[in-house]
Amino acid sequence: MSLSERDKKHLWHPLTQHQLHPESVAIVKAEGCTLYDEDGNKYIDAIASWYTCMYGHCNPHITNRVAEQMKTLDQVVFSSLTHEPAIKLSEALIDILPKNQNKIFFSDNGSTSVEVGIKMALQYHFNQGEKRNVIIAFEDGFHGDTFGAMSVSGLSVYNGPFEDFFIEVKRIPTPNGDNHKEILNQLEQISKENNVAALVYEPLVQGAAAMKMHDVKGLDAILEFCKSQNIITVADEVMTGFGKTGKHFASLHLKNQPDILCLSKALTVGLLPMAITSCSQKIYDAFLSNDITKGFFHGHTYSANPLACTAALAGIELLKSEDIQQNIKRIITSHQAFGKRMQSHPKVASVRQTGIIFALDLNIKMERYGNLRDQLFKFFMDNGVFLRPLGSTIYILAPYVITDKELDKVYRTIEAALKEF
Ligand SMILES: *Cc1c(COP(=O)(O)O)cnc(C)c1O
Repeated sequence: MSLSERDKKHLWHPLTQHQLHPESVAIVKAEGCTLYDEDGNKYIDAIASWYTCMYGHCNPHITNRVAEQMKTLDQVVFSSLTHEPAIKLSEALIDILPKNQNKIFFSDNGSTSVEVGIKMALQYHFNQGEKRNVIIAFEDGFHGDTFGAMSVSGLSVYNGPFEDFFIEVKRIPTPNGDNHKEILNQLEQISKENNVAALVYEPLVQGAAAMKMHDVKGLDAILEFCKSQNIITVADEVMTGFGKTGKHFASLHLKNQPDILCLSKALTVGLLPMAITSCSQKIYDAFLSNDITKGFFHGHTYSANPLACTAALAGIELLKSEDIQQNIKRIITSHQAFGKRMQSHPKVASVRQTGIIFALDLNIKMERYGNLRDQLFKFFMDNGVFLRPLGSTIYILAPYVITDKELDKVYRTIEAALKEF
């Protein structure tokens, strides 16, 4: 029996309606930008396995380092004990994060990094005897699938059955270059009528909202307002972190830095799950007290797993390398040329790009996970390219090590799809 057949017996896949989508493609090997299935078919991983494997799959620089680490220290409790991989990683991260970030807290995935960020912001106020209970977030944001993260997410397709259990959230539109006066008025109103604790936002690019991009100046104005009201700003850089916007972090495009910053996905370069929530000294200091209950009582069993820390460290070395920085520039230029070509295409409604993140909207209406969208997905797979269109948006977020030849194949496959649909 094939792996795909055996899969159906006991496995329940994420974000999948199994009655409509019983089939999963079984991948048996991955190398660089290529995925290999059990029938020997090859696919270019043009979304870097959900933006994780930015230095290519099974990159020996990373796998060798983790293999070495595995022989000396595998896992240890991170309360009352510490270790060099975590210490080194904290030093390497503080070196590249926005200047105001000074403390590193570990958890397991993007959702928990946001959960931690929300809890830090709420307890920051609580510890100072301020009752602040409302969070502001962008429309169409996505921050993960745990309850706090779901509460701040605005993509309601996922949230229906759980909405009655959410934290109270007020939503504002993303700044588009023309609307930031209105947004500021709205913010002022919200903060007058509510005790606002925090703003949670994906800086510059909203990933799950189909790579919606927004205005730097407008976002800066929003952050400035939050600062003036001591509303704690929580940047969710789970998707945008580690070079994707052309700088190491999307926040570095802005004047106003977040109080709290969430990282996962490319943090551990596709090898192991881990997440980090970093914060400024101001946040950390609000938890220091002789009163034990003012500490931050949140912890995951696998916090700061030494193997995951080692993978993250190897990834940061690569990110900072001349080679990867050149690759990032090359992909940006290549996408710009493709974007120009696509802009005037009759089946393309709009094209956008931030750093190496490229997206185009088709003129055709498609449900987020509808039939036509599935046919488009199948077309890409049949042609050896792994792309997951979000409704009628096709986006590329490929590993930095993708070659020009592979990129060209991705572009040509998208152009071929435009002929078919
Ligand atoms: C993927 C993602 C998350 C959730 O991360 P998980 O590791 O899937 O829990 C949160 N925020 C953003 C912006 C994401 O892209």
